[in-house]
Amino acid sequence: MSRIAYVNGQYVPHAQAGVHIEDRGYQFADGVYEVCEVRGGHLVDERRHMARLVRSLGEIRIRLPMSLTALGIVLRETVRRNRVRDGLVYLQVTRGVARRDHYFPDPSTSPAIVVTARASDPAKADALAGQGIAVITVPENRWERVDIKTVGLLPNVLAKQAAKEAGAREAWFVDRDGRITEGGSTNAWIVTGEGRLITRHADNAILRGVTRTVMMEVAEKLQLRVEERAFTVAEALAAKEAFVTSATNFATPVVRIDGQPIGDGKPGRVARALRETFHQVAEIAP
Ligand code: PLP
Repeated sequence: MSRIAYVNGQYVPHAQAGVHIEDRGYQFADGVYEVCEVRGGHLVDERRHMARLVRSLGEIRIRLPMSLTALGIVLRETVRRNRVRDGLVYLQVTRGVARRDHYFPDPSTSPAIVVTARASDPAKADALAGQGIAVITVPENRWERVDIKTVGLLPNVLAKQAAKEAGAREAWFVDRDGRITEGGSTNAWIVTGEGRLITRHADNAILRGVTRTVMMEVAEKLQLRVEERAFTVAEALAAKEAFVTSATNFATPVVRIDGQPIGDGKPGRVARALRETFHQVAEIAP
C-alpha cells in the first residue's frame, strides 16, 4: 500500500510529497515538530504533544497554521489513510516559504505544515527493550534552548550516528560539569541503589519529554520516588539501572554506558515495570 503525506492542505502520495526549496525549515531549520505514538490506531498523549507544539511555536513566534481541532482531524486522517495501527505520526510546522533572508518574512506568509505517519512493529520494540540498549556519552554541543522542539537537530544526528558507529543505540549529552542532560532523541534516567528514579530537571537544557512527564505519574502509581535533578556520568555508571524514555520507546532499559555494564548488565526490574505500566497511565484518544 502506498503511503500518503499531508502537505499544506493536501493529501499526496508520499513519493511525490515535497516542499518548496525556499521553505524556511529547509534553509534555516526554522520550524518545530512533534512525534506522537499511534497505538491500536489511536493517538497517545495527543493533548500533551499539542500543548508542547503550541509552546514551541510560541517560543519562536510562528503561528499555529490551523486550529488544534482541525489539526487533530489531519493527524487522524493521515494515520487512517496510511492504515497505521501501531507506529507514529510526525508533524512539522515551519515559518513557511519566503525569499531567503534571515529576518522573519512578511507576517502574511503562511506557516507550512507537513504530517506523515509510519507503522512500526511493537514486537520488535519489545524485543529490543527485552535486551536493553547500549549508550555512549558525548559532549553537549547544542544551543541553549533545546526545550524548544525545533527541527534543528544536527548535533543530535551526529551524536546518534557516533553511537551507531560505536555499536550503541543512543548518545547521552554531557554538559561542562560532567552531568548528563539527555539523549539524542530521548530523556535519560537512572535508578539508584535505594530504588529512587533520577532524571534531569526540565529547564532549557533538555526537552521536557511528554513520556518523561507521564512516567512521573507511572512512578507514582508504582510507589517509586522520583528526583528531578542533574546526575553525573559517574553516578550513571554506578547506578542500579538506567533507561531512556520517548514517545516511541516508552521506557527502554540501558544496559551499557560507554562499554561498561549498568547493574548486572541486564534490563532492570524498575525500567521493565515502568514500561509495562506506561499505557495504563498515558492518555489514549478515541
Ligand atoms: N529529548 C529529545 C532531544 C527528543 O528528541 C525527544 C523526542 O523526540 C525526547 C527527549 C523525548 O520526548 P517525548 O517523550 O515527548 O517523545
